[in-house]
Amino acid sequence: MRPEVLFPLFKTQNTLKGVGPKLEPHLARLTGEHVVDVLWHLPSGAIDRTFQPKIDEAISGQVATITVRIGQHVVPSNRRRPYRIICHDDTGTLVLTFFHAHGDYLSRTLPEGELRVVSGLIEHYGEEIQMSHPDHMVKVEDVDEILRLEPLYPLTHGVSQKILGKVIQASLKETKDLPEWLDASLQEKKGWPKWQEALFAGHNPTDMQDLQASAPARVRLAYDELLANQLALGLVRRGMRRAKGLPTIGDGLLRKKVTKALPFTLTKSQQTSLAEVIADMESDVRMLRLLQGDVGSGKTIVALLAALAAVEAGGQAVMMAPTVILARQHLKTIEPLCQAVGVNTTVLTGREKGKTRAAILEGLKSGGIHIAVGTHALFQSEVEFQDLKLAVVDEQHKFGVHQRLELAQKGRAVDVLVMTATPIPRTLMLTAYGDMDVSRLLDKPAGRQPIDTRVLPSSKLASVAGRLQSKLDTGARVYWVCPLIEESEKLDLAAAEDRHRQLQSMFGADNVGLVHGRMKGKDKDAVMEDFKRGHLSILVATTVIEVGVDVPEATIMIVEHSERFGLAQLHQLRGRIGRGSGASTCLLVYKTPLGKVAEQRLKIMRETEDGFVIAEEDLKLRGAGELLGTRQSGIPEFRLADLEIHQDLLATATDDAKMILNQDPELQTKRGQALRTLLYLFERDAAIKFLRSG
Ligand code: ADP
Ligand code: MG
Repeated sequence: MRPEVLFPLFKTQNTLKGVGPKLEPHLARLTGEHVVDVLWHLPSGAIDRTFQPKIDEAISGQVATITVRIGQHVVPSNRRRPYRIICHDDTGTLVLTFFHAHGDYLSRTLPEGELRVVSGLIEHYGEEIQMSHPDHMVKVEDVDEILRLEPLYPLTHGVSQKILGKVIQASLKETKDLPEWLDASLQEKKGWPKWQEALFAGHNPTDMQDLQASAPARVRLAYDELLANQLALGLVRRGMRRAKGLPTIGDGLLRKKVTKALPFTLTKSQQTSLAEVIADMESDVRMLRLLQGDVGSGKTIVALLAALAAVEAGGQAVMMAPTVILARQHLKTIEPLCQAVGVNTTVLTGREKGKTRAAILEGLKSGGIHIAVGTHALFQSEVEFQDLKLAVVDEQHKFGVHQRLELAQKGRAVDVLVMTATPIPRTLMLTAYGDMDVSRLLDKPAGRQPIDTRVLPSSKLASVAGRLQSKLDTGARVYWVCPLIEESEKLDLAAAEDRHRQLQSMFGADNVGLVHGRMKGKDKDAVMEDFKRGHLSILVATTVIEVGVDVPEATIMIVEHSERFGLAQLHQLRGRIGRGSGASTCLLVYKTPLGKVAEQRLKIMRETEDGFVIAEEDLKLRGAGELLGTRQSGIPEFRLADLEIHQDLLATATDDAKMILNQDPELQTKRGQALRTLLYLFERDAAIKFLRSG
């Protein structure tokens, strides 16, 4: 249960003064729906209103806060001209100007003859000194309402600076000081304020330094967030390990036979990774290992051999894929190899229904089926196993931590192997997986040739298509990729369909297929299958081919509107070719004008095929938060910490979390209790379940 001190922070924002039904949805979109979410929304800059000159000292182009006596209101003769109010002090004249003014409002707020403090940007026009639409106009006794340093917040449509400022001040009032969770000596050494003070300081900067990521208040808040994350990861990981693993020890016979039957020998890093996995499985500690390998590095075979080890030991294994296409493809890969050695396989997705499904469920429960490949359908409660020993989760960035946990609960102490082609930089790795064990496939299978990548404008597209025929004559297979994004889905789909028709008329209707995310599963499979078998030579596709699809004969890829794809996505896409022994070509076609960042991305793609280099460059171009589309990647998005700036904090937080779990494993001490509050504060509630007295 969430501690009571936090209740006010987890109320919805409409409980705050000034947040009505109109503002609420905009605010929720900007920050999130709870009070705590606005608190995390720190200013990105500030307007300095400390300059309080006399009128004749006011500098053009600078913000000034000036006390003036209101003089004559000059109502414009014509709506296109501004409403003018002539003001004075003992040094000169200041003209306040308002376009599209409401005269009665202005005569009420700025009555002639009264003293007012106005604050805004000064502009000189010839002899005249002007302030257009002052940001503040208050009575002298209310001058404190004008903050000397007025924070500027990132905004969205429907939320103004002024309103957001008020909402944030109201939400600050809801805070209480919380019991300190920081290590006292660390806090002292760093000179960090208490939590509530830090929050106040974050929102009420008194000088420009306070807005820097290095300001003590900000660093503290960032540290809190990182500590919560690392502690939560530590708890989850320990929780998964505590259910002691059962040693899975096979005799190696199946593995030996299958390895022999392969048309290739394993690469060095496939061998090493497999050895690491097997060692984990054989030990009595539960495996939680990440197998990281670039697209085409050959992860599937490592997974299969691990699965066979589970079968040798009398158990079962599952391999989870993010899509039905991939699940089926995996089955196609492993089925013949397994059949040859008497291992039974099946596929289970949402598409297996009725009798077929019943038979599969029966086979899993009785143990008649040894290896099941599938999608999240494998999670469902009706799916039972006789003795599930290993779960392999492929392309994990589409799975959440929760799903991983659920899967692990299907057996007694299921070893978990997560496979990803996403080259996660070290820093992000730590935040996403804590100290999860990692195996890496660094070398590509022998015989692969580098991909010739070229970047060209869409004006060249016609000649590209023209030259394609000669390639097709030699039996080449081509991916023709069209973008499809949600925001412009209809248009994108129409463009892909047009391209399909056009290519059909050029190369023959039977030669060109179309596959997109909106198609029914069965139809998708059929098209993919035709392409794989060579019945189609050109496959027009939206990014459904992005992950994992394996057609080694495909050697040409054309990506239209490549400027609209992210680096990681382009890299994934390109990984679909260059998988066989033939030389491959990738054409990245862009539409002009090409933006700076897009140009940079395409340049990187042309220069390297190394997923890690690409990931690092991506990190530079986009910033950690956005990398890999964090929302679905399972990599947490930080609200307060910025990994590019706070890297050293992350290391400290990781050590801190480890120490805490060593010294106070159940978070029972006073600090431990405070740390529980921290976990709730950053909504890492799931981790608390791993405490004995959660
Ligand atoms: P990914 O890591 O992207 O999942 P796959 O497991 O799909 O890669 O393997 C890509 C292709 O490489 C497959 O066709 C596979 O049979 C082949 N392959 C895997 N290992 C090797 C190897 N050691 N030598 C040659 N080809 C291999
Ligand atoms: Mg794969």
